[in-house]
Amino acid sequence: MTTDQPLKIAIQKSGRLSDDSRQLLRECGISIQNGKNALIARARNFPLEVLYLRDDDIPQYVADGTADVGIVGQNVVAEAGFEVAEVRALGFGGCRLSLAVPKSVDYPGLHWFEGKKVATSYPSILSRFLSEKGIRAEVHTISGSVEIAPNIGLADGIADLVSSGSTLFSNGLKEVEVIMHSEAVLVARPHLPKGKKAMLDKLVFRIDAVQRAARSKYVVLNAPNDRIEAISRILPGMKSPTVVPLARPGWSALHSVINEDEFWEVIDELKAAGAQGILVVPIEKMIY
Ligand code: ATP
Ligand code: ZN
Repeated sequence: MTTDQPLKIAIQKSGRLSDDSRQLLRECGISIQNGKNALIARARNFPLEVLYLRDDDIPQYVADGTADVGIVGQNVVAEAGFEVAEVRALGFGGCRLSLAVPKSVDYPGLHWFEGKKVATSYPSILSRFLSEKGIRAEVHTISGSVEIAPNIGLADGIADLVSSGSTLFSNGLKEVEVIMHSEAVLVARPHLPKGKKAMLDKLVFRIDAVQRAARSKYVVLNAPNDRIEAISRILPGMKSPTVVPLARPGWSALHSVINEDEFWEVIDELKAAGAQGILVVPIEKMIY
């Protein structure tokens, strides 16, 4: 056990990032005693304290040192404009900040927005984007239900977060420009003290292992011995495949790891090279 102060991590209390943030910590082997309505919880087996906050407050709390690190959307980080370092992209909470206009508009391109009113909860990102593109438009900041603004005559268009687009669609809007793509990220306050930096490195080491595992599959297959070489060329593995003799003479089992992206292609090649009885198993953690 360490006598140092625990690393303080801010995560969203309740919302779209909450479950995935908690799950990530769990997959990193960190178990949190979770009083349902607690604002702070201490991890049992890692020097970590969890602060449950509104997502909008996380960049500021991390920047001013109330928390050391946080999990928050890149959109919120970009809007808040505080100095925090992005440590890792986390692969969940994916969305985009987009401009949308009423479906009936025959949208000719960005110049349509010239002189128009645009409602958003992301005024700084939107203003930056419009000025970079040389468009002068009136930015109206509203904090919720931005998608109804055009219907009630408050704005001509909106800039809002989109994932499937169904909310836009059901409000009679269509997405016309993507301003930024976003996902959840682990951010840290700049200049963490040494002890805290060491804890962060330990946490990031675990996150990397979890993410690598999520992208990989463990493959076990049988092959006649004279095919081992050809199959090994297809199956690079972490170093090279493990080859284990089977009880049946002349046959072996090969064990290896393959990348999810090339999964189906590799499976087809393996079959063509003589592999049989191919088993594909999820991996929980992967350490290099
Ligand atoms: P809070 O009460 O913490 O302020 P919120 O209502 O502002 O919550 P959520 O709707 O829970 O926030 O969204 C949190 C984050 O989830 C967003 O900032 C964004 O990064 C991500 N996200 C992913 N998909 C979407 C989406 N379709 N709409 C909104 N946010 C999304
Ligand atoms: Zn919020």
